[in-house]
Amino acid sequence: MSAELKLKAIEIRKKLLSMIYKAKSGHTGGSLSCVDILVSLHYGVMRLNPKDPKWADRDRFILSKGHSVEAYYAVLADLGFFSETELETYCRFGSRLTGHPTTKVPGVEVNTGALGHGLAVGVGMALAGKIDKKDYKVFVLMGDGELGEGSVWEAAQVASHHKLDNLVAIVDRNRLQISGPTEEVLRLEDLQAKWTAFGWKVLRADGHDIDQLISLFKALPTVPQTPHLVIAQTIKGKGISFIENRKEWHHHVPNDDEYKRAMEELDEQIRELEKSCTHK
Ligand SMILES: [Mg+2]
Repeated sequence: MSAELKLKAIEIRKKLLSMIYKAKSGHTGGSLSCVDILVSLHYGVMRLNPKDPKWADRDRFILSKGHSVEAYYAVLADLGFFSETELETYCRFGSRLTGHPTTKVPGVEVNTGALGHGLAVGVGMALAGKIDKKDYKVFVLMGDGELGEGSVWEAAQVASHHKLDNLVAIVDRNRLQISGPTEEVLRLEDLQAKWTAFGWKVLRADGHDIDQLISLFKALPTVPQTPHLVIAQTIKGKGISFIENRKEWHHHVPNDDEYKRAMEELDEQIRELEKSCTHK
């Protein structure tokens, strides 16, 4: 399971880089940052049916950091929500695979991209689930820079007021946003204390450890009648040495040489993974 999903995550990284390279557009750093979180949720945790995207009992996922859409499209295509070949149309004229996700794409629950909206919509979905006596869960993935939006904190208050223990928010805590380190642009810490003060149960995880993420998500809620926040420690640009932790890669597009080197690094990771598996 673990090696299989690690391999999946590397393949998703290759696909998203290819999409960005071919489209000459995209958000490279943030997409690479959240791949392991997306893979953990979609392959190891969530109840989904790609053949019936609107299945009433599905778990809901909201990519509130909508600019990381390339990773999300690659996951949805791999799961079979739409064809892999459609990824080739990313950001082309007339394609439904636009630079931020919309509900025209099967599997996408809500249009996102304008930051700070996803959690509020997730609160509504979780509240609806309680009213309808459904047992689905709602997962909302936010960027850490996104926490500068005041609407996030309004939604956080509402979630704890309504005791939404079917709601899980995840912060992709890579400590960078478009213009620099989060703690320099608008200080977030003490993040755990802030969310706890808003009535949330806060947990921490290595946002690149798929096994750890899956077991953590599966154990939720750990406290009844309480919404949960997972602070996932991540690296922006994770997986490519010269992209990691570089703010300029927020939406920098790889040139020919960078694309070639990035793909070589990912291929090498696949070889290493296969080698470690055969040695076990
Ligand atoms: Mg960030």
